[in-house]
Amino acid sequence: MAIMKTAYFYGGSDIRVVEEEIPKPGAGEVLFRVMSAGVCGSDLHNYRGHRTREGAPWQQGHELSGEIAAVGEGVDGLEVGMRVGIEAEHLLGCGTCRPCLDGQYHICLNRGIRHGVRQSSHGFSQYDVCVAENVVPLPDRVSFDAAALVDCYACGVHATNRVPDVDGQTVAIIGAGAIALTLGQVLKSRGAERVVLVGTRKHPVEVAVSAGSADVGVVSSESDPVRAVLAVSGGEGVGVTFETVGGQNQLIQQAVEMTRRGGVVSVLGLFTKPQTIDPALAMEKEVAIQWSNSFSSWNGRSEFGEALELLGAGKLNPEPIVTHHFGIDDIAKAFATADDKRSSGAIRVVVKPWE
Ligand SMILES: [Zn+2]
Ligand SMILES: [Zn+2]
Repeated sequence: MAIMKTAYFYGGSDIRVVEEEIPKPGAGEVLFRVMSAGVCGSDLHNYRGHRTREGAPWQQGHELSGEIAAVGEGVDGLEVGMRVGIEAEHLLGCGTCRPCLDGQYHICLNRGIRHGVRQSSHGFSQYDVCVAENVVPLPDRVSFDAAALVDCYACGVHATNRVPDVDGQTVAIIGAGAIALTLGQVLKSRGAERVVLVGTRKHPVEVAVSAGSADVGVVSSESDPVRAVLAVSGGEGVGVTFETVGGQNQLIQQAVEMTRRGGVVSVLGLFTKPQTIDPALAMEKEVAIQWSNSFSSWNGRSEFGEALELLGAGKLNPEPIVTHHFGIDDIAKAFATADDKRSSGAIRVVVKPWE
């Protein structure tokens, strides 16, 4: 019996690494060695106890890449040894509901359910199995770490697809985490003239500017973010403001205030508190507020595939975004590091299950 290490999450900070049998790929599935898996902000919701998940213990890790170890029956075009990116399995669509038929499987009514069972990717594990359709060969120049960021970049591609063309525009991003930094690079690749990025702390804002994710960095603990964004945009506000933080703060109102008349607020952050906005202001400015949840396809084109293409073409700069690495035995440290970014200086923490 071949054995691997995998992490189980018992809720909160209780994470246990155990040994268990390596899964076998069924028909239409692929087994791969996980090479990199990012710790996402959404992984931290449970860790911090904001959202208690039922059915503990569970496995997780949805920002992952690897190397194919075996393929199941009926899998074409994928071979053992290939380096691959994995589109997270919790995004699988049922294929038959209205959003799925429209190619919008990220808002599927039964997202992540296949054969009646909830699916998820297990990046915090030495091996994982995935349906072949979510396994994408990597271009040579895309590293495993970069491929683990495709999930983030694809969220940025989706948000950018939903807003009016950013080519030549000044836009703002609230937040300085991995979603913000990857989004900023996608916006630059789409021709955004100026990206103004607002973060609460100096260090990640500086990283954003030096990584090419932003042209102008604003540290909100040092200067009023709305005033700063208005100043950069000639007093009128920006065409699009992307909110990437979510959580408990009242940031949607702030985004409305930064946005010019007729502009758009795109919300990527997951809020855990109701938001108060001044509808009179939003009405007067006719600011549209839209939501951007994960990614799927746009005009028939895979947004995961598009993000990977941008990486393959050298149009994005993933290296500075991955700041920390931990082996599987140190996964508790990986989560503690990701949880306390203020003291660790982490942007994206990556688990390398074979180190
Ligand atoms: Zn994620
Ligand atoms: Zn569906």
